Amino acid sequence: MADIKYNKAIPDYEELFSGGEKQGRNSVSVLKQLLRSNKKSLILSLFLYVVKYLPVWVIPIITANIINIASAGGDAAINKILLNLGVLVLVVVQNIPTHVLYSRVTDRMLRTVGAGMRNTLIKKLQHLSITYHKEIETGRVQSKFMRDIESIEFFNTQLVKTLIPCIINVLGAVAVSMCKSGLVTVFYIVVIPINALLVKGFQRKMKTNNRLFRKENENISAKVANMLEMIPVTKAHGLEEHEIHGIENQIKELRIKGLMVDRTNSYFGSYTFVISNILSGLCLLFTGILAIKGKINIGDIVIYQTYFNSISGNVQNVINIYPELSKGIESVQSVSEIMKSSDVEDNRGKIEPRLFHGTVYFDHVFYRYPGESEDTIKDFTLHVQKGECIAFVGSSGSGKSTIINMIIGFLKATKGCVSIDGKPIEELNLNEYRHNISVVPQNSILFMGTIRDNITYGLDNVDEKKLNEVIKAANIDEFTSKLPNGLNTQVGEHGGKLSGGQKQRISIARALIRDPKILILDEATSALDNVSEYHVQQAMSRLIKGRTTFIVAHRLSTIRDADRIVVMENGRAVEIGTYDELMAKKGKFYELKSLSELK
Ligand code: ADP
Ligand code: MG
Repeated sequence: MADIKYNKAIPDYEELFSGGEKQGRNSVSVLKQLLRSNKKSLILSLFLYVVKYLPVWVIPIITANIINIASAGGDAAINKILLNLGVLVLVVVQNIPTHVLYSRVTDRMLRTVGAGMRNTLIKKLQHLSITYHKEIETGRVQSKFMRDIESIEFFNTQLVKTLIPCIINVLGAVAVSMCKSGLVTVFYIVVIPINALLVKGFQRKMKTNNRLFRKENENISAKVANMLEMIPVTKAHGLEEHEIHGIENQIKELRIKGLMVDRTNSYFGSYTFVISNILSGLCLLFTGILAIKGKINIGDIVIYQTYFNSISGNVQNVINIYPELSKGIESVQSVSEIMKSSDVEDNRGKIEPRLFHGTVYFDHVFYRYPGESEDTIKDFTLHVQKGECIAFVGSSGSGKSTIINMIIGFLKATKGCVSIDGKPIEELNLNEYRHNISVVPQNSILFMGTIRDNITYGLDNVDEKKLNEVIKAANIDEFTSKLPNGLNTQVGEHGGKLSGGQKQRISIARALIRDPKILILDEATSALDNVSEYHVQQAMSRLIKGRTTFIVAHRLSTIRDADRIVVMENGRAVEIGTYDELMAKKGKFYELKSLSELK
């Protein structure tokens, strides 16, 4: 259908979930707001619901009329019946267009809310700092994205398509009965809550069993995930039987818990069936007596009977979806946890230099990780000129990566000043600044796609000539020329089909093609064998020419050509100088080298 606006603007709920000015907004009010932002669609949807649902209320009335007309008899009886039938047909047929329209309005509203929530969460995740992402497990975020948003969507659907209609139905049925007979309405008001209470009593039992079953399921999932992770170790030690046995018991337990759920469910099903029918029989008895006494017409028994069943059915529905609704509220809480996090980089109003040169100054810089009692970086001073290549060496934990993270702007100095081209890094628009930096990390991160996609990541129009240059410089053609699809080869999940050295060279090409002013290589070659290292090494020496470069390395070959080497120890720069200077000094660097910590 061409008229459906599939690409309607997706709403942004950031303000809503994060609480905006009103801090401490609770989950229920977030949900309320969510619906309120769609007030027009919601009202239209409910109006259409009432119209489309009209037959359910009107049919019993017409049936009662026809019975009353037939039992009274008379000449005009047939005509009166035909008239009633005509009304019935009209009321029923209008259901086709109104139902279609109702579904369209409601579904579009619900899907738009879902899309808005997903979009808002993705935006927030991209804006949260790297520190936040390091601390929260990826799995947890994924579960929030998938499961929680789904259950909020489900909540909204249940609310709009079940709960509110049920309430409308009950109110409608009570109102019509009230017009016809106050006595019957009183009967409803007394009997229906009894029904509701009985259903609710059962539900408590069901809830306990369901929870036990769900917990058991989660236990198994966790155990299976752990088992799969351990498989290489398990196999290497011949412990397959041990693992199988360990999980077998849990599977048995799950079966028992499952059977308990099944049993209560079956009891619940039949008990509610029996109770509702007995109560419905009571209603029949009551209205029958009223008819005998001449208080109501015989035909009206049909109206009261149908409405009674409709009301008690609807009340049961509401009770049944209640647990689902509370799950949705829980999920709002869960999504809000991310949305409320204030650990975002604020680049508003910061300097956006067009031209970076790449001088980096550290002046008496200290850094302390949050919650630690000691400074990790102590009084670090280093002035790096444009185009200089600095190598950091030092034992693991000496603070090399921490310094690198300060250069990228992931960490802010707790004392002292880091400045880029003479401006304190805090005053820069970090997003803009980082367009001038390339980082080749220790573990190259590749995404699913071709080798070409991975190199040109984030760039729109890449000049083929430049790509070829980069590929040569990064020594990528050495292996792509042997692949049937060359650069268009799929790398597989996490680059599964490539060797460490090959992935590293793709990562280097990704850095090169951006032509960065500042280049950072944090232990980029430490995990490679000698042959791969040779190829990567060649690529790197081409890469660093004319750029300010920071290298963290363990290999002598990598640092020999650096302009200056900074020896880190316990958060301090203990020696700074060229390779020859430091060797001649016979100090810490000399010591490290002779300990062959540097290969
Ligand atoms: P290197 O890269 O030289 O191996 P790092 O800069 O990674 O060293 O770490 C320096 C010190 O800071 C180490 O003692 C490490 O335990 C500590 N450290 C690193 N990251 C954190 C963190 N997020 N929170 C607290 N301490 C940290
Ligand atoms: Mg490190």
